[in-house]
Amino acid sequence: MKSNHQHNFDSQTSSIGKFHLQNKTVLIPEMNRIGAHLIAATFRSFDSNARVLKTYTGLDLGKKHTSGKECFPCQVTLGDILLFLKSEQEKLGAAFDPENYLYFLPESDGPCRFGMYNKFQRMVLDSFPGLDRVKIVSITTTDGYSLEGVIEPERMLAFRKASYIAVVVADIMERLLWRIRPYETREGVTDEFIENAMRQMESIFEHNAAENDFGGILAKLEEITGAGRTLIDPAIPRKPLIGIVGEIFLRMHAQSNQDLIRVLERHGAEVVNSSLAEWVNYITYGQLRENKNNFRLDFKQLKFAGLKDHFQKIISFGGDLFYQEMRQKQFYNRARRLLDFEHDHKVGHLEKLLRKEDIFTFDVTTETCLSVAAILQFAKEGYNGVVNVYPFTCMPGMTTSAIVKPVMNRMRVPYLDTPYDGSSQPGRETAIRTFMHQAAQHFQRHGRKGIIQKLAA
Ligand code: SF4
Repeated sequence: MKSNHQHNFDSQTSSIGKFHLQNKTVLIPEMNRIGAHLIAATFRSFDSNARVLKTYTGLDLGKKHTSGKECFPCQVTLGDILLFLKSEQEKLGAAFDPENYLYFLPESDGPCRFGMYNKFQRMVLDSFPGLDRVKIVSITTTDGYSLEGVIEPERMLAFRKASYIAVVVADIMERLLWRIRPYETREGVTDEFIENAMRQMESIFEHNAAENDFGGILAKLEEITGAGRTLIDPAIPRKPLIGIVGEIFLRMHAQSNQDLIRVLERHGAEVVNSSLAEWVNYITYGQLRENKNNFRLDFKQLKFAGLKDHFQKIISFGGDLFYQEMRQKQFYNRARRLLDFEHDHKVGHLEKLLRKEDIFTFDVTTETCLSVAAILQFAKEGYNGVVNVYPFTCMPGMTTSAIVKPVMNRMRVPYLDTPYDGSSQPGRETAIRTFMHQAAQHFQRHGRKGIIQKLAA
């Protein structure tokens, strides 16, 4: 990393954290396109001037200011923020005020490197004169993405609800895209349709989210689903169904995964990517699970001091999870009445499945437990193949691969690992083509029927 400015370690605490959004421009990195835009619209509904950062065009800058050892999503998001701030600086000249911006970068407590992105990016921003005053807003998985200090206390609950709905609606709109596009009546029509639908939905969120008026959002979603259904050519027969799991940024960021879903579709697939809501529910579920475990442990050891706190958290996270799953089901059910796209996994069910098969455990956190369980679930639901997407050297991604490969072999379900680091891999297309050939054979033999198989040891 090139540095022309002294990094002050105090900035790790004074310039990363929970800062109030009011009167600032909130900069949101684009992970999945629709999700980022609906979340930005939700922020705007709560009177903050939020905008989505243009993505992937700053990758050279991201690479220039990293050593190469960082995870790929860190390089991509760093490039996005640097390019934006540099262009703003050039455009506004003396009027550029770094304190007008808040860079929104959630974190996770690891144990892998996601907890270090914001700290590392802080050091890079601090190395540019002026950019040390751009604060990083970081909400964290350790408190279940609490928004305390970011938004007024009396509006916090409304914001949490609205942003969760934004996540669910974005997931559903993506599922519509993947359900319609392989069967579209005219090439390109689904992409145009979904882009246009996203803009309409953005405007509804901007006007209705702060009031938690979800009726209008639901009605719009139904209208979009109904209109999307008409783009399907009924003469095109159903295709092999492929499930995607893996590291959340890579599997959702089309540019980073070199448009994997479209490539799979080109080779004859209908694809379902694991959702963003699954991750949000997993965070809430994890907090609930941890507090239940702590409660049990303290009770057994007769340590009564912490029981009340654990109990309050069980109630609070339990309530959050109940609300999230209830809303998710409501939105999916309403849209699925109009078009038969795939439903989402319930995290509690994934944990039960993992416990039953006894090949991994939720006690080891990170995405591995979600990915391993989701792969098993896809296989049991009759998917014709599964792809694991992750950044090159990603610890949870490689762990998933090591555990799941032999299991998929035994279940005779086609499986493919696709690590990415931004370079083009000449053999990738061939690997995908071979994988899709196997998936097509699986489809011919089993159709899409769930094959509940015992995992032979
Ligand atoms: S999940 Fe993978 S890519 Fe993300 S921080 Fe951890 S190791 Fe890096």
